[in-house]
Amino acid sequence: MERAAERPTPYHEPTPIPDKENPFESMMARFDKAAEILGLEPGIYNYLKRPSRQVIISIPIQMDDGRIEIFEGYRVIHNDILGPSKGGIRYSPDVTLDEVKALAAWMTWKCAVMNIPFGGAKGAVRCDVTKLTPVEIEKITRRYTSNLLDIFGPDRDIPAPDMNTNEQIMAWVMDTYSMHMRRTETAVVTGKPLILGGSLGRREATGRGCMIVTLQAMAKLGIKPRGATVAVQGFGNVGSVTAQLLAEQGCKIIGISDVSTALHNPKGIDIPKALAWVAKNKLLEGFKGGEPISQEELLELQCDVLIPAAMEEQITAANAAKVRAKIIAEGANGPTDATADPILQEKGTLVIPDILANAGGVTVSYFEWAQDRAGYFWTLDRVNHRLERMMRQSFDAVYEKAAEFKVPLRIGAYILAIDKVAKTLKIRGIYA
Ligand code: NAD
Repeated sequence: MERAAERPTPYHEPTPIPDKENPFESMMARFDKAAEILGLEPGIYNYLKRPSRQVIISIPIQMDDGRIEIFEGYRVIHNDILGPSKGGIRYSPDVTLDEVKALAAWMTWKCAVMNIPFGGAKGAVRCDVTKLTPVEIEKITRRYTSNLLDIFGPDRDIPAPDMNTNEQIMAWVMDTYSMHMRRTETAVVTGKPLILGGSLGRREATGRGCMIVTLQAMAKLGIKPRGATVAVQGFGNVGSVTAQLLAEQGCKIIGISDVSTALHNPKGIDIPKALAWVAKNKLLEGFKGGEPISQEELLELQCDVLIPAAMEEQITAANAAKVRAKIIAEGANGPTDATADPILQEKGTLVIPDILANAGGVTVSYFEWAQDRAGYFWTLDRVNHRLERMMRQSFDAVYEKAAEFKVPLRIGAYILAIDKVAKTLKIRGIYA
């Protein structure tokens, strides 16, 4: 340890910030910053930067027309220092091992910020679900799961849904694993249908968590919920639930958007009506609750809170100066890239980082796992209360850390997470 401390350059291979960022490089750039502030020793830094295990598998499938096609599958365990690793499985035609590695690290920091006893992982299959039949998707899922039987397990690595995977796919993962184990093992995967050991409140959990930390941030700035103005980008699972719950708290949702349109109404959009419209028509387009504006204008609306809840890289150096919200609550993963950080900091915008703002989902996944293991299921009230308690505690811990080091909440969150994992690693020790 002493020898390492004497080295003139403490870090190896610092993560470069390219001209055009991708969200994972953005995330790693923030990791570097927090590691530097913490004075993380080089050995621990390198340990935490690299995944502990990366698996690439071939998934041969007999397609409906009789052809045999081979798909590539991945599972990356970033680390399991805090507990079994946890992370979703995505099905995507252009997914790469690098992307899965970065997403796995993201999960480690998210779980650590939330004080959840899980490490981080991510999985993927390179496939285009729009070109597959349900039978082919089931075959891919079952073969992927059986190839990874020695990785998965309720005490080892617990997958969940991610891009293009859903409750049904999680049910197939659970069933395949259970068939091989010769017993029903619901806790091997979360995000399952309720009838199969899923948790009440899981669907709304990310939006609910986002609403809770947004209210806390508003309190810090002395903004009262009643009448506070909010713009929400993305009206899917996360965005629509956050908008609905904030509206229930008295906030005025003055802007909403989805892939089809963006709408503005300074008097407040009727969110229940917008939800009913989307339930019937799938997209917001055609909904008469507001004036159509451009997608860019939505992000630049004068408001108290902006909730980017659609996708990554929406706020960058190109538009950060035009964002007028006092608070940004990142419902999506990676909506703000690292080049926007200093601009927002300079303006005094309070940014609730993704690894905190959208961590309600993984928190209720943890509850699902705990309920499955106990074989005892909680009421919705209990799920929501415990989620609120954990979100509030984590927000306060991140806020204190940021104040202690005089850094934005995002770096505070990374400091909190990295410090926790590094301390646990040191106490456990490096085996052999
Ligand atoms: P979703 O597919 O349900 O909704 C996405 C919404 O964004 C849709 O309304 C879509 O029309 C809209 N959208 C897409 N592109 C857009 C664009 N260019 N401009 C404006 N709107 C656009 O997805 P979701 O589950 O709500 O996830 C949204 C984000 O939150 C993703 O970044 C996801 O990784 C993240 N997230 C989701 C969860 C969860 O539990 N669902 C948990 C953590 C993080």
